[in-house]
Amino acid sequence: MPSTKTGAEARKGANGARGKQRFDDVVSVVRALEPSYPVYCLRPELLTQTAKRFASMFPGTVLYAVKCNPHPAVLDAIYRGGIRHFDTASLPEIAQICDTYPDAHAYFMHPVKARAVIRMTHSAYGIRHFVIDHEDELHKVLEETGGQDIVVIVRLKTEDTGDSLYNLASKFGALPDEAAALLRTASEHGCKTGLAFHIGSQCREPKVYRQALALVGSVIAKAGVEIECLDVGGGFPANYANAVVPPLESYMAEIRSGLKDIGLKPTVSLFAEPGRALVAAGCSLLTQVQLRKGERLYINDGIYGSLSEMMQVDIRMPVRLIRLEGEASQRLRPFSLNGPTCDSLDVIPGTFELPEDVREGDWIEIDQVGAYSNALATHFNGFYPETFVEVHDAPPAAET
Ligand SMILES: *Cc1c(COP(=O)(O)O)cnc(C)c1O
Repeated sequence: MPSTKTGAEARKGANGARGKQRFDDVVSVVRALEPSYPVYCLRPELLTQTAKRFASMFPGTVLYAVKCNPHPAVLDAIYRGGIRHFDTASLPEIAQICDTYPDAHAYFMHPVKARAVIRMTHSAYGIRHFVIDHEDELHKVLEETGGQDIVVIVRLKTEDTGDSLYNLASKFGALPDEAAALLRTASEHGCKTGLAFHIGSQCREPKVYRQALALVGSVIAKAGVEIECLDVGGGFPANYANAVVPPLESYMAEIRSGLKDIGLKPTVSLFAEPGRALVAAGCSLLTQVQLRKGERLYINDGIYGSLSEMMQVDIRMPVRLIRLEGEASQRLRPFSLNGPTCDSLDVIPGTFELPEDVREGDWIEIDQVGAYSNALATHFNGFYPETFVEVHDAPPAAET
C-alpha cells in the first residue's frame, strides 16, 4: 500500500505564515511529505527573475495585478524583483499591499467601487489613482475623495479581436466618445486624467496592443485633454502545453510602435498591469492519484480548486508523473483527470499523456499553475488546496 501522510500531519511544518519549507526540487517535496493533499510548489527565484525581466523590457512602470496570485510568498518574490506598484481592485487587496510594503504604491483599478471603499482607501491608504468607465462612478469618486490631487483613469472598451482567451471588454470599458467625454468632465473638475484598457487575458497576438493604442490616440484627440498616464493593462500570455505564444519582445515592440504611431508625449507615464505573464511559470501543483479506473484518474485537486482555468478556457497545463518506488513505464497513453469533489462536472476537459502504468499513489506534477489557481480555489465539498512549499531548482534555461 502506498504510504501517504494526511494534510494535518505534514502541513504543520509546511505552512507557517511565510516560513515555508524549502526543497531542492519537486521530487524532494514528494520524498519528504508524501502528500495525499495537493501542494503548490513555488519557485521564488523564477518569480523574481520573471518580474525583473518584464520590468527591464517594458518602457514604463510595471504594476503587478494582485488578483492573479495574491499569495504572500508570490508578492514577496515579485517585490524582490523590484516591483513597487500594484494593480489592486478591492479594499483587502489594497490593505494587503500597503500594510506589507510601506514603499509600495497601490492603484484602484476596478471601474465599480463601493462608496465607503473609495473613501477608506483614499483617506486611510492615500490611494490617488482611480479607474472609472461611467459618469456616475466619476461623481462617486469626486464626492468621496473631495476630488483634490487624484488621477481619474478612464477605462476604454477595446474591440474583441478573438485573440485573447478572455474578453474583459464585455463587462467594462467606455466607448471612445464616452471615454472622451469622461476625460473632459474629470479634467473640468480639476482632476489629473489617464486612459487604460485591457485587451483580455492570455492574448496570443501582439498586434492587438498596437490596435488598442490607435484607439487611445483617437480618444485623446477627441477629448482635447492632456492625459497624465496611460495604462496598457495586462493580457501578456504564458506558455502552456497547447499554446506556444510569441515572445514578450514582440509584444513590447508592438507597444513601442503603437506609442510612436499616436505620438504620445514623453511626459505621459506609461503603465502595464501584467498578472499571468509574471506568475504562471513560478508555481506547479503536486497532486496524487487516489484511484485509477481504466483511463480515468481520480486526483486530489480539480476545477473547484486550483484547476478551474482548464475548464473555462482552452488552457492545457503540462503534466509529469512522479513515482517514488520503481520506474514508471516509458510508454504514454491518454488519461482523463477527475477532480476530488462529488460533482460530475469536476473533470478536466480532454486527456493528458501519462505513463500507461500510472497507479494509485503516484503523484502528478501539473506545471504552469501560478496564475488564477489558488486565487480562485473554493472550499467546495471540503477540498481546499492550501499547502505551499518553496522549491529552489534552477529555472529552465529558456526563461533566463
Ligand atoms: C485581471 C486584470 C489584469 C491582469 O491580467 P493578465 O491577463 O493576468 O495579465 C490587469 N488589469 C486588470 C484591470 C485586470 O482586471
